[in-house]
Amino acid sequence: MTQSLNHAMAWPDARGRYGEFGGRFVPETLMHPVEELERAWEAARADEQFQAEFHRLLKDYAGRPTPLYHARRLTEHLGGAQIYLKREDLLHTGAHKINNAIGQGLLAKRMGKTRLIAETGAGQHGVATATVAALLGLRSVVYMGEEDMARQASNVFRMRLLGTEVVGVGSGSKTLKDAINEAMRDWVANVSDTHYLLGSVLGPHPYPVMVREFHRVIGRETRAEILAQAGRLPDYLVACVGGGSNSIGLFYDFLADPGVKMLGVEAGGRGANLGEHAARFAGGRPGVLHGTYTYVLQTGDGLISTTHSISAGLDYPAVGPEHASLYASGRVEYTRASDQAALEAARTLARTEGIIPALEPAHALAEVIQRAPKMSKDTIIVVNLSGRGDKDMGIFQSSGIV
Ligand SMILES: *Cc1c(COP(=O)(O)O)cnc(C)c1O
Repeated sequence: MTQSLNHAMAWPDARGRYGEFGGRFVPETLMHPVEELERAWEAARADEQFQAEFHRLLKDYAGRPTPLYHARRLTEHLGGAQIYLKREDLLHTGAHKINNAIGQGLLAKRMGKTRLIAETGAGQHGVATATVAALLGLRSVVYMGEEDMARQASNVFRMRLLGTEVVGVGSGSKTLKDAINEAMRDWVANVSDTHYLLGSVLGPHPYPVMVREFHRVIGRETRAEILAQAGRLPDYLVACVGGGSNSIGLFYDFLADPGVKMLGVEAGGRGANLGEHAARFAGGRPGVLHGTYTYVLQTGDGLISTTHSISAGLDYPAVGPEHASLYASGRVEYTRASDQAALEAARTLARTEGIIPALEPAHALAEVIQRAPKMSKDTIIVVNLSGRGDKDMGIFQSSGIV
């Protein structure tokens, strides 16, 4: 009973609303494409052949299932709770993002589209999209702020090597939110042959629920793995929250288990003032951005705020609407970790376990490093290690932590 109630709560209504959050705030010209997408996705979801192909590629191409690893040295170092890492960093292209890119790529093909477009901040979602475009024989264009292109030159090159056209966006702050505006403009103009492959649980319905469903495999695997290894469910799930896709992918299948506490960690950046962080729940309030009603960092006049995080994947002024609803209900606790704490957490993991995490999940680890020592040794924490640190080597090098 509780289970069905909680699941009903976590599934959006017909208008894509999670309580008051979510929905479909798009111009008239995009209404038809998002409705077409919703119908196509509903049909694909119920199609066994589609599901079989999706799971085949997750397994044979992306490398699923990913291991759940009991980090014994980190656990011993912290002296409290048992820490397990869900190893999404071992996936092809180095992060969880490939799950969603494969799902939407297959869907685009099923819809008869021949062209993918995407936006990217750090380039991780762009690389995942470029990879899937090559795999499925689709053309692709990735929009990226010029500022981000300069910061992430090796990912720009990767995308080009994979055959994708990378288009620099020089408007606004020349970062992710401007790239999203440009991708939406392209979609309106080219909707007949183009699918917009959105990179997180953001945007108008059905994107938030669709992207979550493509990432649910993370939580499903974790559940089976922790039961096999520890014989019971975890006490805590911890994940970083950018748009919110790796975290909801881990959390969703545990929402109905009252004994499993959940913690989402946002980017605390370099300070508490607006513009210095990307902690939407600490410093934002409800508003509309890129087609959805959710928590948004904005000025008193409702202008979208600039944001800062050392990790590009967490550096976005809005959060997925399902998280806004989980925040409102209190089911998930949200907190933040600073740039410095994330850097130090990455170094700690590198030196205790020989694993260099991406800076995004290093935020989740930073929170665990704070809390685990105060917990009993029979407490179980699962941390989603959403990506590996290769892409962040330049930042680690210039940070002075070594
Ligand atoms: C993009 C990214 C994130 C943030 O996105 P979510 O949608 O919040 O998961 C987190 N970790 C890594 C490694 C990423 O590349």
